[in-house]
Amino acid sequence: MPHAMSDSATPPAKPMHFIRQIIAEDMKTGRWGGRVHTRFPPEPNGYLHVGHAKSIILNYGMAKEFGGKFNLRFDDTNPAKEEQEYVDAIIEDVRWLGADFEDRLFYASDYFQQMYEWALVLIDKGKAYVDDLTADQIREYRGTLTEPGRPSPYRDRSPAENRDLFERMQAGEFPDGSRVLRAKIDMASPNLNLRDPVMYRILRVPHHRQGRKWNVYPMYDWAHGNEDSIEGITHSLCTLEFENHRPLYDWFLDQLGIHHPQQIEFAKLVLSYTVLSKRKLRELVFGRYVSGWDDPRMPTIAGMRRRGYTPEALWALVEEVGVTKVESVIDVGRLENAVRNHLNRVAPRVMGVLRPLKLTIENWPEGHVEMLECVNNPEDPSAGTRQVPFSGTLYIEQEDFMENPPKKFFRLSPGAEVRLRYAYFVKCTGVVKDASGKVIEVKGTYDPATRGGDAPDGRKVKGTLHWVSAAHAIDAEVRLFDRLFSHPEPEKPPKDAPPDWTYLHNLNPSSLEVVRAKLEPSVASAKPGDRMQFERLGYFCVDKDSTPDLLVFNRTVTLKDTWAKEQAKGAA
Ligand code: ATP
Ligand code: MG
Repeated sequence: MPHAMSDSATPPAKPMHFIRQIIAEDMKTGRWGGRVHTRFPPEPNGYLHVGHAKSIILNYGMAKEFGGKFNLRFDDTNPAKEEQEYVDAIIEDVRWLGADFEDRLFYASDYFQQMYEWALVLIDKGKAYVDDLTADQIREYRGTLTEPGRPSPYRDRSPAENRDLFERMQAGEFPDGSRVLRAKIDMASPNLNLRDPVMYRILRVPHHRQGRKWNVYPMYDWAHGNEDSIEGITHSLCTLEFENHRPLYDWFLDQLGIHHPQQIEFAKLVLSYTVLSKRKLRELVFGRYVSGWDDPRMPTIAGMRRRGYTPEALWALVEEVGVTKVESVIDVGRLENAVRNHLNRVAPRVMGVLRPLKLTIENWPEGHVEMLECVNNPEDPSAGTRQVPFSGTLYIEQEDFMENPPKKFFRLSPGAEVRLRYAYFVKCTGVVKDASGKVIEVKGTYDPATRGGDAPDGRKVKGTLHWVSAAHAIDAEVRLFDRLFSHPEPEKPPKDAPPDWTYLHNLNPSSLEVVRAKLEPSVASAKPGDRMQFERLGYFCVDKDSTPDLLVFNRTVTLKDTWAKEQAKGAA
């Protein structure tokens, strides 16, 4: 399991949260006969996002921790919106997170027959009726929070008449939307969900798994609790907006006298600079504001995976953020930090130059190449070292050179000496400019006595630069990302918002920058999905757009404080 892949053999004790506490207590009292059975029930109408990751990790995590089971169930009760593409993507994402559902992959649509029979049970008990009111009328009759609802004139149809009508609804005799089946509960209930909710609607459309078998389709509120019951779920974990629906689920289960899971609500994950509503994610994709569901700037699991985020990082974030009943915006920086922390431990280091500037070492022997030993991961000695070629023509980062530097610029400038990482001290002796006066080449000399990066005379330099040998470097396309939205709460309209304002106004116009980079030759064999640190620049992941001729990288996340650290090392 990903979260068990930490570098210490005994993971730290998990912090208590209220769901962990409830389950621990149930295990102690034997409430479910020692069983824990959870599930993740996505609707296959879009790709999963980081909020779903929280739900998956919580559900699977609880099952695993208490020796229980975890199901993946597609809530595919709405035939109009669902597609196989989403089913496949969701399975891939759940597996990638390490949430093992073994052979327990279920579809709510497989329970349609059972649910239909249960609807007949309620009809026969006088607890459900066929209503001929239109959708608008039903809304109008429902009343408001301050006003009780009114009973439909069809509310007191006999069970026999209801059964006949319902069977004919399913037989396809009536047009879409002409009738519904409603639970007969309480039109005056202070909880609007209990004012005779709709259980079935007529939709004479094919279903992606059931074909043309059904002409009535169950509503979410009727179906959801039944699905959990059928699967023997013990702890039905869901987000807070379903708290008000719980009395309804309870009512259905009690009327039917079937297995009754305990529903427990928790606060959604909400991240700053991010939108998570599926409707909006769809809009970003279909409006072509991003390149697709797996655009690395998207908060989708597919996007995060492509960007180079790891399951371990998501597990760490979920554990760190915890599970509560209070919704709060989590700083997206915490997610980025979790990614950084994990990659720092596992990602091999390489050198690459994002915006190359030629550096010629004038006293380097013509044609000479030296192989220098570079550490693969200072956080992990077992990662070993590699040999990187060094020569008299190098590339350094454009921003590591300034012709007229301000004070405290410790990188390269005329007359200044720096360390080239793992290589030599180099002193700048001059520049070459193009006709416009732009520096296109830096010249320097190296000190052969400083091989490996230390001066035997104890001389110090303050800057350490990364570099690649020009003749050996490989080209790569590198995609640098900024946040997709430029506002921490992108969905919040500004005070003077014009009437046509939408969250799309907060899209960051420069969330993607593409550069042509030069990378050390060891990277040539990298494959899509490989992650590495480019020293001083961040963590990068090979993109699926790579071809045999050109590697494409995504910057997963920048390095925090690296520059400060390097400076300290240089000054030490
Ligand atoms: P919609 O209902 O608009 O399609 P949804 O995000 O609720 O969107 P579902 O497929 O119903 O989509 O979600 C599956 C599960 O994920 C649900 O149990 C839901 O509670 C949970 N979930 C959704 N968003 C979040 C979130 N931001 N944080 C935690 N859990 C979430
Ligand atoms: Mg939902």
